[in-house]
Amino acid sequence: MSNSSNNPSSNPPKLPLGPEPKRSTRQATVAWKTNIITIGGDAPVRVQSMTNTDTADAIATAIQVKELARAGSEMVRITVDTPAAAAAVPYIREQLDKMDVLVPLIGDFHYNGHTLLKDYPECAKALSKYRINPGNVGKGAKRDPQFAQMIEAACQYDKPIRIGVNWGSLDQDLLASIMDANAALPVPKTAQEVMIEALIQSALQSAEKAVEFGMNPNQIILSCKVSKVQDLVAVYRDLSHRSDYPLHLGLTEAGMGSKGIVSSTAAMGILLQEGIGDTIRVSLTPDPGAPRENEIIVAQEILQTMGLRNFTPMVIACPGCGRTTSTTFQELAANIQSYLRQQMPIWKKTHPGVEAMNVAVMGCIVNGPGESKHANIGISLPGTGETPAAPVFVDGVKVKTLRGDNIAQEFQVIVDEYVNQHYAPK
Ligand code: SF4
Repeated sequence: MSNSSNNPSSNPPKLPLGPEPKRSTRQATVAWKTNIITIGGDAPVRVQSMTNTDTADAIATAIQVKELARAGSEMVRITVDTPAAAAAVPYIREQLDKMDVLVPLIGDFHYNGHTLLKDYPECAKALSKYRINPGNVGKGAKRDPQFAQMIEAACQYDKPIRIGVNWGSLDQDLLASIMDANAALPVPKTAQEVMIEALIQSALQSAEKAVEFGMNPNQIILSCKVSKVQDLVAVYRDLSHRSDYPLHLGLTEAGMGSKGIVSSTAAMGILLQEGIGDTIRVSLTPDPGAPRENEIIVAQEILQTMGLRNFTPMVIACPGCGRTTSTTFQELAANIQSYLRQQMPIWKKTHPGVEAMNVAVMGCIVNGPGESKHANIGISLPGTGETPAAPVFVDGVKVKTLRGDNIAQEFQVIVDEYVNQHYAPK
């Protein structure tokens, strides 16, 4: 006898198509001169990053900020940890302005932020946002006055703040008091639950205190960073229900290489799909010599592959298999992706909308023509044993067959022509 509840075809649940609507939040504004970046509200999810230069080395920092901004970082955070770093900030700002890089700078403060913001007013003015870690503002009786001093600077210079809690530097007094209260419960929560609650309370209580000290609530952004995927999901799901502040998402210490990319993508993918997250940072440990901008590419690709934003034309490429014994197709896919990325700083200004273009580079006849037809422009290279010809499809129609040694160059010309014809040159 058949059981209708086990029958997959009976009344299948209607699953949502695409991400849930974005959680409703306040909207903060992070600005430098004419470059105004909104966070939260109806703004798109923003991409940001952080330098790893010594901020006191103003030139090296300005160069790295410029590179991160050119790669697409909409805000760049810099460490402000010493008087020398604070003194360098206005100079870094000046250098960037001279290069017409108006990316807002965020000052990352720990321990001595209250003093630096007071002693270096030009630094306080040159920054567009302050990151305050409530676990590192000061201990005991010093905590509140030092926190108030930072809020005073934010109010005086009209700067937004991020209250950035991190489980590695969680407010120990708060944690101890939550642990004591937990121990007295008839059924105490697990250590993980207590940690999550402490992170959230630290962020919420600090925001409440900032407002008490005069901070405009519309200029507060919250984050609670942890280093494990499931913890991050649990923290942000909970936090998203308990406040309407915009949220900065990121795994802290995500790690190196593929591990850092995968864990950041897994954690942020779940949250973004649920409409949680207003700005993201992918904290990758760069491989020695690798460019810092990789974290921007990963952040953009998370958002673009999820259909949340478009940054650069995407190349769809098959993985290749036993039917592709030469490297031609891999090289073509890699070359065209790097060409498209290289062109974007120009095309962004001259050919608006091009970032949504799809290009397919496929390895053989099995899925090549089919996938190519679904892309704006697609090429299907010959697999082993196939006729050495590469049909090119434009908007689903076969327009040309490329042959010979110059397939890559000729394909690039077709891409350029398509861009010029379809994305009105400004
Ligand atoms: S399209 Fe062809 S080459 Fe690419 S994975 Fe499929 S069968 Fe292999």
